[in-house]
Amino acid sequence: MAKRIRVPLPGMELGHVNAYLLECGGEYGLIDVGLATYDAAVGLLRGLKELGIKPSDIGYVFATHYHADHITLISLLSQLASPEYYMGEAELAFLQGVGGVSQFFSRLLEEFKRHGVPQQLLDEMARVAPMVRFKKAFEDVFDLPWRGVKDGEALPCGLRAVATPGHTPGHVVYAAQGYAFTGDHVLPKITPNVSWWFEVEGFNPLAEYLKSLEKVKALGRGLPAHGDELDIGKRVEEIEGHHRERLEDVSKAVEEPATAFEAARRIRWDIGPFDSLDPYNKLFAIGEALAHLYYLESLGAVEAVERGGVVVWRRKL
Ligand SMILES: [Zn+2]
Repeated sequence: MAKRIRVPLPGMELGHVNAYLLECGGEYGLIDVGLATYDAAVGLLRGLKELGIKPSDIGYVFATHYHADHITLISLLSQLASPEYYMGEAELAFLQGVGGVSQFFSRLLEEFKRHGVPQQLLDEMARVAPMVRFKKAFEDVFDLPWRGVKDGEALPCGLRAVATPGHTPGHVVYAAQGYAFTGDHVLPKITPNVSWWFEVEGFNPLAEYLKSLEKVKALGRGLPAHGDELDIGKRVEEIEGHHRERLEDVSKAVEEPATAFEAARRIRWDIGPFDSLDPYNKLFAIGEALAHLYYLESLGAVEAVERGGVVVWRRKL
């Protein structure tokens, strides 16, 4: 079984990200790596040293998805090793389609503005967003020679790719015998964030996410990117229950017509009332509200009307 290195995530509530080390015929593979910060860099290098591994022994890097806390530290690793880099082909296509880190965030801000988010909050979000704070590391990492992974593909280190779009458009769970590296698709304590940031053709995040949960149910034990080992089937049921409740909340929040921003303020969030959240968590709360609204729209349960550049949602009878 894989060895876990808990790589610190300074400044993030999660506290750490798990980088898993696998033996692969004289070389080693890493599943996810960490955030490009000093603490994380020292944590990763110390973790490898404690396991008796030199960074240059890493022959393979498997990224579950593109988020900063999983891949930006690869910028350091790529200076110490020359591994093969793997990421979901849909993730790579999505990132290429967006056209760069700056474009990603400006599209998001434009979309959030359309959904009623006040300018002041947009400015605050722009200061804390990982895409902005880790721009240079992202750019270095996106420039590496990534190999796109297909759903069901057999990979080095005895892994099999399971495409699990939802948390991101091209998230991948890496399955082994009786267990799987679940990345951020299935997490033990928190429900993975499923957000709508802006229109990505053919991608309805929550619809995809719920389908992807079904796909991994029977994979056995889960080694998640944050927190401890879990029972995937059991945890999937809990997460499905959470989204059923959240869908009811969101649907109620637009009984009286509302923008997604107003709806987000009416929803009960586990971490506290919307107005008490910091801009980083507000960003995710609005993204979540939008993912649920677009999903409800695809079911015909709510509708969106755009007037004067602002989208108002309402429940359909
Ligand atoms: Zn993530």
